[in-house]
Amino acid sequence: MAGTVEGEKVDVSFSGKRCIHSRNCVLGNPHVFVPNAKGEWIHPEAASVEKVVALAENCPSGAITYHRKDGGPQEKPPVVNTVRLRENGPLAVHAEIVLGDGTFYRATLCRCGLSQNKPFCDNAHIKAGFTAT
Ligand code: SF4
Repeated sequence: MAGTVEGEKVDVSFSGKRCIHSRNCVLGNPHVFVPNAKGEWIHPEAASVEKVVALAENCPSGAITYHRKDGGPQEKPPVVNTVRLRENGPLAVHAEIVLGDGTFYRATLCRCGLSQNKPFCDNAHIKAGFTAT
């Protein structure tokens, strides 16, 4: 599942191939990112642009991205690059990442070696029972 939902002030995009189901989005604001929705689950109009942007930037995998249309700033590289080890899961990178033609700022990278979508995590570690602190 992938696509872009257009809002008046901000468009929000989602890439299912990149999502690691951390659920930061639905737990962060279940009106903007509606859990278990039957139809559209992303509603950029349900909160202020600043809140939607903060929710998007809190998505560790980069599955959620946004494009502001209100003249406000687009996502920037962090001041300090970080790589976090997620318990029994991927490496969560927050940095300017250039890969092929794309530049992005958040990604979760395969640590178990089993992803079919390398370098990204595809949750293969869960089925494989990968354990690593
Ligand atoms: S990886 Fe991003 S899109 Fe997927 S559940 Fe977590 S916060 Fe939501």
